[in-house]
Amino acid sequence: MSAPEPPRKPIRLLSDVVAAQIAAGEVIERPASVVKELIENALDAGATAVDVEARGIGALIRVSDNGAGIPPDELALAFIRHATSKLATADDLNHIGTLGFRGEALASIASVSRVTVTSRVRGEEVGGELRIEGGESGEVKPVGAPAGTVITVENLFYNTPARRKFLKSERTERHHIEEVVANYATAYPDVRFSLMMNGRESLRTTGSGETVDVIAESLGHEVFDDMLEMARHEENGVTVYGVTSAPNLDRATRRYMTLFVNGRPIEDQALKQAIVASYEGVLMKGRYPIAVVFVEVPPEDVDVNVHPTKAEVRFRDRGTVFAAVRNAVRRTLRQHASVSDLHAPRPDWPREDDRSRRAALREAGTGPSQRELDIPLETPGQRPLERPPEPVDIFSGDFDAETGEIAPPPAGEAVPEAGGSAISDEDWTYDPDRPRTLPMLRVLGQVGNTYIVAEGPAGVYLLDQHAAHERILYERFMAERESGEALSQRALSGITVELSRAESALLEENLDSLRAVGFEVEPFGARTFAIRLVPALLAERDPALALRVVLDDFAQDRPPTEKAAEEAIILRVCKQAAIKAGQALSHQEMSALIRGLERCEMPHSCPHGRPTLLHISADELAKQFGRLG
Ligand code: ADP
Ligand code: MG
Repeated sequence: MSAPEPPRKPIRLLSDVVAAQIAAGEVIERPASVVKELIENALDAGATAVDVEARGIGALIRVSDNGAGIPPDELALAFIRHATSKLATADDLNHIGTLGFRGEALASIASVSRVTVTSRVRGEEVGGELRIEGGESGEVKPVGAPAGTVITVENLFYNTPARRKFLKSERTERHHIEEVVANYATAYPDVRFSLMMNGRESLRTTGSGETVDVIAESLGHEVFDDMLEMARHEENGVTVYGVTSAPNLDRATRRYMTLFVNGRPIEDQALKQAIVASYEGVLMKGRYPIAVVFVEVPPEDVDVNVHPTKAEVRFRDRGTVFAAVRNAVRRTLRQHASVSDLHAPRPDWPREDDRSRRAALREAGTGPSQRELDIPLETPGQRPLERPPEPVDIFSGDFDAETGEIAPPPAGEAVPEAGGSAISDEDWTYDPDRPRTLPMLRVLGQVGNTYIVAEGPAGVYLLDQHAAHERILYERFMAERESGEALSQRALSGITVELSRAESALLEENLDSLRAVGFEVEPFGARTFAIRLVPALLAERDPALALRVVLDDFAQDRPPTEKAAEEAIILRVCKQAAIKAGQALSHQEMSALIRGLERCEMPHSCPHGRPTLLHISADELAKQFGRLG
């Protein structure tokens, strides 16, 4: 029996339109890619004003500029693949001074949408208008138009449903567009940018030429206040400058680091790592700085032609660039440490010393961390930066041994001061009706202000105070939720928080989940939100910071479902509300904590699954001391 003939089709050349659609897949991934390419063209045309408008998910994208314009007889050519005015010879590729050069973008866009271009060259009387649909060009019509170019893209991916399916929610796509416009606005501070999303203004820059103005607008002024300016740093022909966050400000993801190489926003994980590495010993593991970093290298030392979207670049000598970035950031951190007060106490300082030392430091106007941060630039590995305390540690208040109270630090200040109680009685009380899940334990003391030593019928128990408290709060919160009654909340007034664009997008996306667990937040201006209610657990904490912390968590890992999102917030809230390691506790507080844990359903682990207690049995003790044969 012979095998069936394998089917064979003749080789054919793809039609231009199909070829263009395939190629478009590489350049035009989503609406934001269109915005990026059109902005780049406007900037290459020398525009001083760029207006972007977007509606729906690729329903309409329009970019208008006041640049050089395109003459009517070149309009159709601009939309043909490999047609470009920016490159003539292969040698030109070695010193690219424009954002575009591949002559691909307009052809790609036109193959997957309906495009209208209107353009007039400055000094010419009439301009031209051309419509292209699915790559098929119409006739150029003479029109009157302002000098410059307007490109309107409609129904993106109308003829490529597979691509359309990969698009995310309108919010997500909107967020990508905002990010693109914000990035170019930052890189080109002397160009006036505006962005209208669904008829609402979402971004506007003045074109003042001040990069910091644009960055401040983009990050939000509250966050910007905690950013450190990086002076121009030159090293081996590489120049680095920008802003980077002070050690008291951090995020859970790398997303808030933005990089520019020769004015081009790029994605480069290795360079981001150079920034992160500079914070070694300053930020805790898993925490990342916020940074906007500009890198300038001689054009011949960088290849931007490695990726169709030009989002990645290749450096001739990556190590040099990496070192320059790292040293620039380190220098900034070091200078900051020597002039300002990092004002958070080290967790292992004894309380009394702590107070007097802090008072002395405040008087002297210098910070405790100067010594810790003062390390030689060239040998970062030699003497690692000492780890400062939990960043923005406002949840761990000051503790008063007499009253057993823990006072919250005043909002907006990292130095805890005596005041009201941060841990309410409720936090410590347990439900005596609940069955005991641990044996009765007797408190012996505290080790390192972090662990509680207790004795029970079966030996010695060591509790992690933070993990244990997290567990107690978590079970209380869940019990309250399941009881079907309204969650206990704390009403606030006059508390507003200003968020970055990215954060406010996250907030809007998660408003429902936040509400479900007790946060009531309302828009209160462009990117300012009013916090009306918070979960009772957070009653005494800084509500604005609590909200940021929750958002930060979302940024890191967006939960797939509403329920998962709520669960994530609850975990986060409990984590933040729980007492921290490094906090001295009174005997009374330790007993209350243990009694709470004794009645937890799952006392042996914190809600994240880490153990809350270690047990050393009487037998084990006897064995260790050689009392057992
Ligand atoms: P590239 O930017 O790589 O040259 P594009 O497909 O993006 O390729 O654009 C093709 C050409 O169209 C550009 O080289 C430029 O001459 C012209 N062009 C595109 N957009 C504009 C604009 N906004 N103003 C002036 N000329 C433009
Ligand atoms: Mg281009």
